[in-house]
Amino acid sequence: MAIRLFDSLTRTTRELQPSHADGVFRFYNCGPTVYAPAHIGNFRTFVVNDVLRRLLELEFGANKVKHVRNLTDVDDRTIGQAKKESRPLADITQHWTKLFHEDCTALNLLPPHHEPTATGTIKEQVNMIEVLMEKGHAYRAPDGSVYFKLATFPGYGGLSRIKERELKITNAVADADHKDSVSDFALWKAYKPEEDGAVKWPGPRGAGEGRPGWHIECSAMSKSLLGDTIDLHTGGVDLLFPHHENEIAQSQCCNGTTFARHWYHSEHLLVDGTTMSKSKGNYYTLRDLVAKGYDPMAVRYALLAGHPRKQLNFTLDSLHAAESAIKRIESYAKKLLSYGAITAAEFPDYFKTTDKPKVWGVLGIVWDMLCDDLSTALALGHLHKAINAFQFPTGPSPYRFEIELAELSKVMFMFGLRLSLEEKKSAVAPAEITALAEKRWAAKAAKDFATADALRKEIAAAGWSMLDRKDGYSLEQLKK
Ligand SMILES: [Zn+2]
Repeated sequence: MAIRLFDSLTRTTRELQPSHADGVFRFYNCGPTVYAPAHIGNFRTFVVNDVLRRLLELEFGANKVKHVRNLTDVDDRTIGQAKKESRPLADITQHWTKLFHEDCTALNLLPPHHEPTATGTIKEQVNMIEVLMEKGHAYRAPDGSVYFKLATFPGYGGLSRIKERELKITNAVADADHKDSVSDFALWKAYKPEEDGAVKWPGPRGAGEGRPGWHIECSAMSKSLLGDTIDLHTGGVDLLFPHHENEIAQSQCCNGTTFARHWYHSEHLLVDGTTMSKSKGNYYTLRDLVAKGYDPMAVRYALLAGHPRKQLNFTLDSLHAAESAIKRIESYAKKLLSYGAITAAEFPDYFKTTDKPKVWGVLGIVWDMLCDDLSTALALGHLHKAINAFQFPTGPSPYRFEIELAELSKVMFMFGLRLSLEEKKSAVAPAEITALAEKRWAAKAAKDFATADALRKEIAAAGWSMLDRKDGYSLEQLKK
């Protein structure tokens, strides 16, 4: 089944296909603004996009997907935070970028192929602004800023369906005096020493020093890394207007061609039935939840437990439900492994292919549901239904459950869920047992199997069992 996804521009569900001759699917996802911790609402979007990336890789091949996600490291908010803390802008943005990456790793997000920064692509942004000025789509304001002239792009509002009257109200900001029309938006912001401090770059030809407006960065990064036309552009629904609407205007007027062939927006996350806010006490970062003892995989599961295009209500109960759901999948996986006499260490890479299984078994429906407009909640529902209904043989069976294991491994890849299939250690081994284990491991490495065996017996006599893996060992307390 091909991947079909709702397109916010045409408001229809359409098949995703690469459009370039090289067959590479070009995918741009608006990234975070790095001035504060990303909250779990931000991560809903990134987790949903990660599932999308994984589906695309299975459908087109891992080397046929190019995924770009940017970092906004200069804008009003980042500059404001640097000023508040009296620190250089780069200090603030590097700190929050590092923490963002740690959260991404904990949530098992595949790193994008390119992660450009706004400050690293000033030249590309300035170039685009110059082209827009030359073509008459942008003009210099008296203060040295550059604005996009909305009246030159009749297609404006096509994505958000915003009416002209609403537009005037929305865009009527303080610096309206400098604009030809209140609807015009900034491509380049003239340097204001009292606000910008040390943050400034040489401007486009004919404009003054300053910094780029926020919207132009995505247009420029996307163009420089993926070309004039991309296959999919995504982000949270809050970016649909004005950010994405402005991106379309800038890119299409500059490049003279379609910008994104498909637009996808994930919906807001509510917490305890309402929007997240620090004052309501329902504002969570991943770190807050980990500190409360929750596993990031349970957070990831909970963020996928609703349709991405519908608002999702996140509660601590939904996290408990996610934990139990993951345990049910783990116990199914363990049962398949034990029936198939396969070790847990072999499982994640059981069928190490980059594409989807050639034969689907009972979990084929999960792939179908995800390909049907990324219906993650339905897909998870069908996963559990199939697991519950699965008939294991009652007696010994020569069947190795290879199809089941391969498809479960693929399904876990699609959801990006890591299972823990090793038995949990009940206690930490005392130092003398660890010392014996180290000796035995060394003996085994030296192929002194007689000593290794004798040590294993000694360890067992002390009430511990040593389990060997390829890259090390674990110690488990024997039941008394
Ligand atoms: Zn963007």
